[in-house]
Amino acid sequence: MPVAIGVKAVMGASILVVEDEPAIQELIAFNLEQAGHKALLASNAEQALSRVQHVLPDLILMDWMLPGASGVDLVRKLRGNSRTEAVPIIMLTARADEQDKLFGLDSGADDYITKPFSTRELNARIKAVLRRRAPQMLEDRVEVGDLIIDPSEHRVTGGSKDIDLGPTEFKLLHFFMTHADRVYSRTQILDQVWGDHVFIEERTIDVHIRRLRAALHATGHDRLIETVRGSGYRFVRK
Ligand code: CA
Repeated sequence: MPVAIGVKAVMGASILVVEDEPAIQELIAFNLEQAGHKALLASNAEQALSRVQHVLPDLILMDWMLPGASGVDLVRKLRGNSRTEAVPIIMLTARADEQDKLFGLDSGADDYITKPFSTRELNARIKAVLRRRAPQMLEDRVEVGDLIIDPSEHRVTGGSKDIDLGPTEFKLLHFFMTHADRVYSRTQILDQVWGDHVFIEERTIDVHIRRLRAALHATGHDRLIETVRGSGYRFVRK
């Protein structure tokens, strides 16, 4: 299969680890890489903010106690910024009572893990949060009617017929099928499918949508991709 440059991998999230203890930071980064993710590192709030300005991660693992600004302040800052408000965040806490405090604070984090945690627990939490917040990152099989996409086998079938898709069309369809019934602008589709800070022209999306529709035409599934005039595209469950 040809490799698509600039298209985000289906599996393997980029995860920002905000942790000031080098040994813990290193251990988490090692575990993430072992699980097929890409680890980005920051040791304090300032570094974390500068990191997300350059590359928007798919998920953030954030220590509760950081030098200077606390993890909670940082989560609030990220949630208050339109660029970072939707990034899934898992807080790392040193004690269970900190978790209780966090729940009370309604800090905006998606989940919490108490140190020390096992690799298995960390991976399970990451997967659960991604499933809820960024399902296109996972390799779960998705079905919409008799249209089925299986990222782990890189296979699409429509009414039991195989549908051949190029890598970009595959990722586009996967994004659509995991985000059905909502309208997405070309900019949003670009960010989600090609990745943040990738500069390609918006009409390139139209080219790939046309190819995707052509590939889905034989089984009649092209009708599931609607053009919403002046807004973008919507994948409908019909
Ligand atoms: Ca700390």
